[in-house]
Amino acid sequence: MVAAPDEDEIDTRKIALVMQLRRQGIRDARVLNAMERVPRDVFVPKTFTERAYEDQALPIECGQTISQPYVVAYMTEVLEVGPRMKVLEVGTGSGYQAAVLSHLCRRVYSIERYRTLLRDADARFRKLDLSNITTKTGDGSKGWPEQAPFDRIIVTAAAQEVPFDLIDQLKIDGWMIIPVGRTTEDQALLKIRKTEEGLEQTKLLPVRFVPLVEGLPKET
Ligand code: SAH
Repeated sequence: MVAAPDEDEIDTRKIALVMQLRRQGIRDARVLNAMERVPRDVFVPKTFTERAYEDQALPIECGQTISQPYVVAYMTEVLEVGPRMKVLEVGTGSGYQAAVLSHLCRRVYSIERYRTLLRDADARFRKLDLSNITTKTGDGSKGWPEQAPFDRIIVTAAAQEVPFDLIDQLKIDGWMIIPVGRTTEDQALLKIRKTEEGLEQTKLLPVRFVPLVEGLPKET
């Protein structure tokens, strides 16, 4: 059996990962700082602790995945969140992306379909004292109308089409970052900006996310 990495080792790996993100082009110091403050080992299943600081997506419960650190950093950077902003995340998963955002904005609202994933994510937020994250179980493609409008929306599961309710819940001059694609091989990350005149869409990166699924799973 391999001994679990101790705190010094975890810090070393975390700093190495942040340096790697810089080399890969992540330039926003606030984003790099937030990535450094969030211990990814807390968000991966115990069997993967050893690999928590590799730049890899990893499996989590319920057949879902925690995104690759580069993709989390990239999406956070292009979201350009400010300290006073209200951000909606669709797809809490492990809670890692929400934890990174929580260091950069006023409040994160995060929605997840699986009750068990959300219970574990909430426990991690408590453990790390991240008190500006509010979560709920539900179909995030419907957004969170009671808390709308949002300055920014980030969707961390791939949609077939951009959900209309999410556009509706975005502030004017706000934007949404969302992976869109019909198949896993054909997904692109889109930035959709809402203006007085309509929507402006920019294609950012090819990506691979688990699908955004409508409705709730039976087992919740
Ligand atoms: N942001 C997560 C990535 C999780 S993967 C992290 O940092 O770990 C995407 C997540 O989206 C999965 O947990 C999946 O269950 C969830 N999901 C898929 N469709 C959804 C929907 N319609 N509403 C809410 N969550 C959804």
